[in-house]
Amino acid sequence: MIYLDNNATTPLDPTVSEKMSEFLKEYFGNPSSLYPIGREVKEIITQAREVIAKALGATRTEIIFTGSGTEADNFAIRGVLDAFPEKKEFITSAIEHPAVIQTANYLEKKGIKVTYVPVDEYGTIDLDFLKDAITPQTALISIMFANNELGTIQPIETASKIAKEREVLFHTDAVQAFGKIDVDVNKLGVDLLSISAHKIYGPKGIGALYIRKGTDISPLIYGGHQEREMRAGTENTIGIVGLGEAVRAVQERGNKDKKRIEMLAEQLKKGIEEKIPKVKFNGHEKTRIKGTLNFAFLSLEAEAILLALATKEIFVSTGSACSEGAEDVSHVLSAIGLRPEIARSCIRMSLGRFNTEEDVKIVLQELPEIVEKLREISALDIDED
Ligand code: PLP
Repeated sequence: MIYLDNNATTPLDPTVSEKMSEFLKEYFGNPSSLYPIGREVKEIITQAREVIAKALGATRTEIIFTGSGTEADNFAIRGVLDAFPEKKEFITSAIEHPAVIQTANYLEKKGIKVTYVPVDEYGTIDLDFLKDAITPQTALISIMFANNELGTIQPIETASKIAKEREVLFHTDAVQAFGKIDVDVNKLGVDLLSISAHKIYGPKGIGALYIRKGTDISPLIYGGHQEREMRAGTENTIGIVGLGEAVRAVQERGNKDKKRIEMLAEQLKKGIEEKIPKVKFNGHEKTRIKGTLNFAFLSLEAEAILLALATKEIFVSTGSACSEGAEDVSHVLSAIGLRPEIARSCIRMSLGRFNTEEDVKIVLQELPEIVEKLREISALDIDED
């Protein structure tokens, strides 16, 4: 199998699964219990929290565990809007993940004015537009760090500075950035930041929200005293152990993965551009998570390519996994100005820790043949302009 959908999810790192199974076998206590088997688990959670805080340049008390990256995004946005009921405006970008876009839609239904910052053809936000969109009514700005479909990295430092100058809180969805590029909450100047374990070789169903000390935010989930009363519910202890270990592994590996993945992705990109006619690369050439490659294969339907590749045990995506199966074209590809018939021909390949040179070699053998065959029977004849 050649797995090229690491932006959708990643396989568990063996060190993570080992740590999780050790924990499962030995610990079952409730971390809220005061006797030793509870306190032990509480201590293990604290250690994981410490690892994550350190990786983000934060302190332990600024990390709240959540049930997913999606929950972290919901918590940040709804929590801040709830804490400032007098402020009725929210700003985000046109290319956010559904976790943010759908939350924005919900807010709109509740009477909040949402402004969507547009992006250019590479998927980079318009900072002047952002500046002009802020009013005294703005409660929060949420701009993703790296886009899941294109990999494009946003100028978060500059955007958060703009927010700070106007005394507006700033959240970034760093789910696709964390573990791939440097994510330091102080360098970035953000107040809130979301991460998710299953994008960094950890388990599914666990994420975290960084909340800068002193930030006004209401809980999303009410109940017991867990997570400093910011996120009630008995902790997903096994998930937390997995997230902590996944982060530890990322830290330990340093730039090793990044360099290798970048090198492999560059080989794949070059190979596709050389071997396959009528392709269009989407996303920023430089300011991008380099392991993410998004190509339009003109005159073809992306799904046909995806299915043909799958018969060869090569797994790619037609965009964000969350919009897969949806009838309409990706809002991200529309936002960068792609015509629907071009957007429908786009394939995303996202490389990860476990990909090899052999993977790239095989894809570069199979993909050109598949594209050529499909084009022979395609009724479409679409040009870039
Ligand atoms: N934000 C971005 C940018 C993502 O890519 C994803 C997952 O695809 C999420 C949020 C949601 O994370 P989770 O799957 O943990 O809910």
